[in-house]
Amino acid sequence: MIDTHSHIFLEEFDGDRSDVIARAKMAGVQHIILPNVDVTTIDSLHETPSLYPAFCSMAMGLHPTSVTENYSEDLAIIREQFSQHKYVAIGEVGMDLYWDKTFVEQQKEVLREQVRWSLEMNLPLILHVRDAFDETIEVLREFQCEKLRGVFHSFTGTAEEARTIFSLGDFKLGINGVVTFKKSDWRDALPEIGLENLLLETDCPYLTPVPYRGKRNESAYVLYVCEKLAEVFGISADVVDEVTTNNAKRLFGIQ
Ligand SMILES: [Zn+2]
Repeated sequence: MIDTHSHIFLEEFDGDRSDVIARAKMAGVQHIILPNVDVTTIDSLHETPSLYPAFCSMAMGLHPTSVTENYSEDLAIIREQFSQHKYVAIGEVGMDLYWDKTFVEQQKEVLREQVRWSLEMNLPLILHVRDAFDETIEVLREFQCEKLRGVFHSFTGTAEEARTIFSLGDFKLGINGVVTFKKSDWRDALPEIGLENLLLETDCPYLTPVPYRGKRNESAYVLYVCEKLAEVFGISADVVDEVTTNNAKRLFGIQ
């Protein structure tokens, strides 16, 4: 399995990061993708793959909840990183109007700029979208083309929303521990959406799946997401693993 959205570079893992990686490998995780958060997390992001180079790939971007009126300075710092490091995606980027609507226009502008980078550098987008589906689609539509591609991470939407996303370019949907929650009826739409459009992820340390809900999440628990999808699709976990791993390899260009 590939955990396509893991934040094990954050301080929540400072005490036991090597154990977390060992447990992930034991659970059958072969690779993890680490999306940056903002300018304060760049150093810790770079540190983790330097210790586990074959196991980790990085994404660089500015997260929507970190967008303020000073976004130009932050974007300049983020942009500078691409000349010094190798990344497999632009992320995480997107729009989040759940916590705060103050910077909605700034969030749109920051997303636009990072979509331009994605097209220019031919790297997929890792999109975080919370209470801002229409706004995000509106921005992406300005760039609609064959080269527009990426993943809507932490997808919990409808089949119709999935179709809207797929109409914009080459997009996958990232499924995490939320799919294991009791009230997650949205998962009934997944067979219609199709396994060939899905990626596995954890978003750790957040969104811990059942049976560890309430505890810190980690990449090994992507196994519970894989097993839940096997149940939802009525197929074996091996097939879910194989299809989603190939989807992730193709999107991020990893071996
Ligand atoms: Zn994230």
